[in-house]
Amino acid sequence: MARTIIQNGTVVTLDPDIGDLDDADVLVEDGEIVDVGRGLSANGAEVVDASGHIVLPGFVDSHIHMAQTQVRGIAGDWSLMGEYFEHMLGNITGLYQPEDMYLGGLFGSLEKLHTGTTTALDWSYPNSLEHGERAVDALRDAGLRAVYAWGPPGDDAAKWWYESEVGLPEEQIRELLDEEIRDDDLLSLALGLRGPDFCTDEIARSDMDLARDLDAVATIHMGAALWTSSLYNEDYQGFGSISDMLGPDVNIAHANNFTQEDIQHAVDAGASFSATPEVEMQMGHGVPCTGKVLEAGGNVTWGVDVCSNISGDMGHQMRFGMQTQRMLDNEETMEGGEEVTEVTISCRDTLKSATIEGAKALNLEDEIGTLTPGKRADIIMIEADDFLTAPSHNPVETVVFQSDPSHITDVMVDGEFRKRDGSLVNPLVDEEFDRFVESGERLLDEADIGL
Ligand SMILES: [Zn+2]
Repeated sequence: MARTIIQNGTVVTLDPDIGDLDDADVLVEDGEIVDVGRGLSANGAEVVDASGHIVLPGFVDSHIHMAQTQVRGIAGDWSLMGEYFEHMLGNITGLYQPEDMYLGGLFGSLEKLHTGTTTALDWSYPNSLEHGERAVDALRDAGLRAVYAWGPPGDDAAKWWYESEVGLPEEQIRELLDEEIRDDDLLSLALGLRGPDFCTDEIARSDMDLARDLDAVATIHMGAALWTSSLYNEDYQGFGSISDMLGPDVNIAHANNFTQEDIQHAVDAGASFSATPEVEMQMGHGVPCTGKVLEAGGNVTWGVDVCSNISGDMGHQMRFGMQTQRMLDNEETMEGGEEVTEVTISCRDTLKSATIEGAKALNLEDEIGTLTPGKRADIIMIEADDFLTAPSHNPVETVVFQSDPSHITDVMVDGEFRKRDGSLVNPLVDEEFDRFVESGERLLDEADIGL
């Protein structure tokens, strides 16, 4: 039996029954957290000294398009309805070969692990079964816990994104599930759906039916752009043809422009929300849905979304998501003629959105998201005695505001270290690096978009 004890750390479990513990240990056996507490017996376990460190659950990114990793740094000045649809969905994604899916997914996953994210939903647009297979190979080779979301192919934006009359390729999806995903403990399947914003009512519903039949989370881009807005569009449809199909297995990405009433309906149905605040603030999606979801009694999760414009580090999303909402709430108070005397949404709230709430959205809350005995050991360690992070008077504030990826020293997925003492252990970082860079260069050469 493989046993590891992470000793003498400040343990932020995010489990409401266990709380935060100073000078505490986490005992891991065969990939499972078996005990959390002070003075646990090491009893033959590999000892990891966590003194001076904060020990917490790995982050969960509920929405990212991992395959865009090798075209980093091109979309930082782009809007969604302008350059992104034209250049990315209308051009670059059609040029992807299976190897490009692999290399983007691999380095996207390695970035995730390096920056403390142990689980991500990879919203993918495979142009063939082989593209999907290589995208899944990348997640597996990196050692990330991942939900692979099979979305529409990236080779024909007009066919797949403009009132599409074509459903997702069921046969290919079933084959990928059976051959690559079902028997892998770290992988699960989602479907990346277009929903009624991008396809006919009939297809929106039949794709949802397929997701349910496959027992896959249905993750859908909705309510992101002026034309989906209740404020500016008299044809506002809200959840439209799928409003009676929402449930805990449905994840809505963005949802910026839904009415409070529609958000309430989705929260009541148990649906989850992925806010991707940094991308949404840039690209013209509208105001993040955070405030409306909280008002409705729900919780948001955070996602990076478009990693061709922004970093994959979840720390940015924790801060952008929280501070944006605080700004909006403060503004509302001040517009009412009152001074702001307390802030809304706490550091612990945003950390929960980056961990356990993400786990719930991906139907993984029984496995990950808190450091609870019985869950799988997806654990990160953050240096709290560095001159940039010390003194750590409040571990949650140190995690959210005072640390950056350089302080994430150790990252464990399912009981295995993916990053140790500040470095990734996976040799593919070096072995595949040149091919990764070449892939990005070739894609942009072929796309010829004048960068
Ligand atoms: Zn997205």
